[in-house]
Amino acid sequence: MTPVLEIDDLRITYRGSRGEIPAVRGISLRLEPGDTLGLAGESGCGKSTVAGAVLRLLPVGTDVTGRIVLDGEDVLAMSFGRLRAVRWAGASIVFQGAMHSLNPVQRIARQIAEPIVLHEGLSADAAEKRAVELMSQVGLPAWRARSYPHQLSGGQRQRVMIAMALACSPKLIIADEATTALDVMIQAQVLTLIKKLVAERNIALIMISHDLSVLADTCARLAVMYAGKLVEQGPSNEVFADARHPYARALSAAFPTVGDPAERRNPHGLAGDPPDPSALPTGCSFHPRCPVAMNECATATVELRRAREDWQAACLRVEEVA
Ligand code: ADP
Ligand code: MG
Repeated sequence: MTPVLEIDDLRITYRGSRGEIPAVRGISLRLEPGDTLGLAGESGCGKSTVAGAVLRLLPVGTDVTGRIVLDGEDVLAMSFGRLRAVRWAGASIVFQGAMHSLNPVQRIARQIAEPIVLHEGLSADAAEKRAVELMSQVGLPAWRARSYPHQLSGGQRQRVMIAMALACSPKLIIADEATTALDVMIQAQVLTLIKKLVAERNIALIMISHDLSVLADTCARLAVMYAGKLVEQGPSNEVFADARHPYARALSAAFPTVGDPAERRNPHGLAGDPPDPSALPTGCSFHPRCPVAMNECATATVELRRAREDWQAACLRVEEVA
């Protein structure tokens, strides 16, 4: 079976006025059709950079090395024409706040139909018919087809984005904080919907969030990023309940108590912030914040090691943490 996505030793360095920013530092991932992977980590850990690289959406001049193979095709070697085709039909991304990027003066069904006309060559009428079908699949009533984006709620607009992501039957959907801006009830509805749609169509899903509990609920596997690297990867339930990396453990211990202001200031019970990628600590990048760090952690190179057959963590103390 051809994997839907294979990422091998991906390294990404932004080049800005402040110099080089190594945002992703050697990540490997693999998804088969129907696989669902949750990618977690605090803000700034490099999650969106990985997502952007898969469809080559990163700023011009960004240095990308390693391999990204989408349904058997080398993404980094694709022509722009090929990329444009692949961006809807091969893989699609739903961003946080993408719902604000809808065209305010175009009716909903027309917007969903646009990529279908463009990429599948359907007539405008046929594509709109398909758009209305897609709308019903994401739980939007048919009469909404003639609405403008401002007439929809935030949750409905995010459903429109999901319908657009599904429009050309991609093999992979990347949802990058796609539900973060929604209130908790709507977020749960949209997550359930995404989960159902990808399962029905055997689509591979990468769901990105800073919230491990959201991911554990939706995805079969979890990968946790810290400072541009994967620090843990394994089956969702187990990583969520019994993480082997102290960082992943801290994230999963974060059960936000609604209304508790202390929780909001320090949601993970972790002091401080992730490091600035242009000034990374030596050794294990997490050691300055780690509750179980040893002297060695400040100098050692710590790679992912096997915690179990299907489960890896990058910690010198992985056995003890278990
Ligand atoms: P996440 O999605 O996990 O919050 P990002 O991938 O957005 O993290 O960012 C990773 C790092 O790369 C951060 O330090 C961020 O400041 C930096 N970064 C992101 N986008 C750019 C850019 N266009 N130019 C320079 N640095 C960037
Ligand atoms: Mg992000």
